[in-house]
Amino acid sequence: MKQLICIVCPKGCHLQVDTENGNKVFGNNCSRGAVYGFEEVTMPKRVVTSTVKVKNGTINRLPVKTSKSIPKEKMFQCMDIIKALEIMPPVKRGQVIVKNILETEANLIACKDIK
Ligand code: SF4
Repeated sequence: MKQLICIVCPKGCHLQVDTENGNKVFGNNCSRGAVYGFEEVTMPKRVVTSTVKVKNGTINRLPVKTSKSIPKEKMFQCMDIIKALEIMPPVKRGQVIVKNILETEANLIACKDIK
């Protein structure tokens, strides 16, 4: 059994995943916890949050995040792409900065407006 704490919501349920018996999840209070527990032992994923350099804007850095979680193994590659980016305003909150980043089906999106 693998012990995990579910990070999907603030309740933080203590999960047990039976890794020797089909990765069945116990201790979850909802179906999202079952999905999280299963994925965490088979293909862990995370939402990436960071900032991108802004050229000629009212602020120097734009907060960004991936539109959904991406495989943990691609996080460093994702950060390398983010570090190399420089954007020009205007930017709208929710605007796609990088579409389908690293072919994960997640977009990198702006978290703030910049005029
Ligand atoms: S199992 Fe459900 S209720 Fe429990 S922490 Fe995860 S998302 Fe929240």
